[in-house]
Amino acid sequence: MARVYYLNCPKCDFRYYVGEPLIAIPDFPSQCPKCHHVFQLAESPTWKLPASASGTMATDLRGKPS
Ligand SMILES: [Zn+2]
Repeated sequence: MARVYYLNCPKCDFRYYVGEPLIAIPDFPSQCPKCHHVFQLAESPTWKLPASASGTMATDLRGKPS
């Protein structure tokens, strides 16, 4: 089962989920499904990984099944 992550849109603050493949791509933009604002993942003020993946963000993004 693929992990998902959540983003907050920096424009309208709508929270939505993205699949792991989408955030594994450096500089890949995301589009808010509510207001259609396109932004880089780094612009989201609160995007974060699930609690189980805390601490090692960069490593975890590369993802290896455990
Ligand atoms: Zn938005």
